[in-house]
Amino acid sequence: MPAPLVVVADDSATVRAVVRLELEAAGYRVLEAEDGHVAVAAAQDNPVDVMLLDVQMPALDGHQALQQLKSDPRTRDIPVVFLSAASGGDDIVTALREGAHDYLRKSPEPAELLARVAAAYRVKQLQDQLRERAEELDSISRTDHLTGLHNRRHADEHLRGTMAAAARHRFALTVLLVDIDHFKRVNDSRGHSGGDEVLFEVAQVLSRGVRTEDLVARWGGEEFLVVALHTDADAAAVLAERLRRTVEESCGVTISIGGATSSGGSASSLDVADRNLYAAKDAGRNRCLISAVV
Ligand code: GH3
Ligand code: MG
Ligand code: MG
Repeated sequence: MPAPLVVVADDSATVRAVVRLELEAAGYRVLEAEDGHVAVAAAQDNPVDVMLLDVQMPALDGHQALQQLKSDPRTRDIPVVFLSAASGGDDIVTALREGAHDYLRKSPEPAELLARVAAAYRVKQLQDQLRERAEELDSISRTDHLTGLHNRRHADEHLRGTMAAAARHRFALTVLLVDIDHFKRVNDSRGHSGGDEVLFEVAQVLSRGVRTEDLVARWGGEEFLVVALHTDADAAAVLAERLRRTVEESCGVTISIGGATSSGGSASSLDVADRNLYAAKDAGRNRCLISAVV
């Protein structure tokens, strides 16, 4: 892990140099900023861990810089330690209310400077860990652990967002429901774990068979959802047939596909796809049936 990165923002080059030396001697990396604008830009462009911010600076002062940092999701979580004039008078209470983590009176004893920066850095580390853990949990909650595909929860959300985008930008959208034929027989003949292997293989074939911007999700037991962007009726027929054939050739099972294509997304897409899936099953399985919806 690289050494923690601290921005030292002060209009006095002397203050910056002194603080920089003390921080670097303690193992920190330091970026200097001579005013608030430079400090905010540094925080936007670098993985900054702690910000030391002088209150009185030209162009953009400490309070204004703090506001900008807090209003940007990229910089919101950087702990800010204010550097206030030794004489007092700076509004420390306001700064803390505005979201500053801490403050130091100039010119701090090196030991105090390092202790406050270390405390701010600990807060930053904890925040980073919490965010990473939250992202991990979010990803787990959207993943089907058997196939590694997105699960229905993610697919539902994705579909809502994609429908809205298709309506706004008027692009063709295809929804396919894919169901493995006679899957119960696979479980009966190869056992449940053999069935699981087949599910995994079909999932692989489906994932590899679509474009990166498309979605493949496990919709239910042996049923999958494909959402294909910019895919009109003709392209949908080609896509579905290719998926059907590839599964037949490489997975030892067949699939039936029901689909719906709309220009601009349609609330009834899923229902139509589902009806077509049943119709494909009724018509003998191992086939695709897709219709256009408005
Ligand atoms: P159809 O052609 O009409 O779709 O017949 P089917 O046998 O595939 O359909 P049905 O819905 O009757 O049965 C689906 C089977 O899928 C039953 C269920 O035990 C099995 N299944 C669902 N989830 C899993 C799973 O995670 N692993 C395994 N091995 N089997 C599963
Ligand atoms: Mg089935
Ligand atoms: Mg089924």
